[in-house]
Amino acid sequence: MEKIIVTGALGQIGSELVTKLRNVYGAQNVVATDIRKTDSEVVHSGPFEILDVTDGKAMYDITKKYNADTLIHLAALLSATAEAKPLLAWNLNMGGLVNALEVARELRCQFFTPSSIGAFGPSTPKDATPQDTIQRPTTMYGVNKVSGELLCDYYNHKFGVDTRGLRFPGLISYVTPPGGGTTDYAVEIYYEALKNKSYTSYIDKGTYMDMMYMPDALQAIVDLMEAEECKLKHRNAFNVTAMSFAPEEITAVIKKHIPEFTMNYDVDPVRQAIAESWPNSIDATAAKEEWGFKAQYDLESMTKDMLEKLSVKLVKNAG
Ligand code: NAD
Repeated sequence: MEKIIVTGALGQIGSELVTKLRNVYGAQNVVATDIRKTDSEVVHSGPFEILDVTDGKAMYDITKKYNADTLIHLAALLSATAEAKPLLAWNLNMGGLVNALEVARELRCQFFTPSSIGAFGPSTPKDATPQDTIQRPTTMYGVNKVSGELLCDYYNHKFGVDTRGLRFPGLISYVTPPGGGTTDYAVEIYYEALKNKSYTSYIDKGTYMDMMYMPDALQAIVDLMEAEECKLKHRNAFNVTAMSFAPEEITAVIKKHIPEFTMNYDVDPVRQAIAESWPNSIDATAAKEEWGFKAQYDLESMTKDMLEKLSVKLVKNAG
């Protein structure tokens, strides 16, 4: 990775990934792109271009203009939003991906795009979900993610594109709010714990999902992209996870820091159904063995860090 283009760079992952990549590879070598422009650090700390990923020619032109050797494709519609707007999700998630893969093929770029635990479905084994297993998701997002995993494999074996990817669990972060996923409750809960000392969860008690703290997710992207190609048996859909918990467990850990915190439940049937179709916990052995994946944060250490960082942010925003 020497000259990197990132699509969907103003989202939850991109806004932190771009900063990390600029620190490692040099600010001028990481070109952030998104369909919109904001006043965020990503826009001001290095090159930024407006790019709608459904416009394949524009993506090609920008990648060529910067002579990029790496394309990191993040722009997508997430699970809950995709379920509300399935056709838009298909057009953006699949149309954007095939455009990005075509650019990577034509300009010989190394390629990364995230898959998700949403690529699994109700018939997938629920506990310690294996790397290679049944994938019959029942959501549009899941259909997109499985298709995407297969498409990335296809571009590798058919055209020799160096495609790589991770099946991310719910990602927890304090910089940019999440963009409409099923695991968003596990981010919102920290904001509400600090602001109002209570939170109403749309996910029910006893519902386990995999999660990971953003610093671990970003490091995993860099480590996978830098891994020796010859060591990778799987390329585009490595299971990665750091923890699996249910709403009452994250509540208990937050209470250690904020004893008066209370949790209520008002279950959203749509997001609850999505959550129940996903695994309780996935097995990341392949990622550990093939490129040394390791997460630093567990629920306790993540909660401590989230509450510290978010308190500073909320005070700053208020002031
Ligand atoms: P996000 O919703 O926070 O950000 C998506 C970004 O894409 C936004 O900045 C949006 O403006 C941009 N975008 C939307 N339409 C676009 C278009 N037509 N052209 C260009 N940009 C457009 O998403 P995220 O959480 O940063 O997720 C990035 C990727 O990671 C997605 O593929 C997502 O499925 C995957 N993922 C995320 C999580 C998570 O917990 N955040 C978990 C698993 C997988």
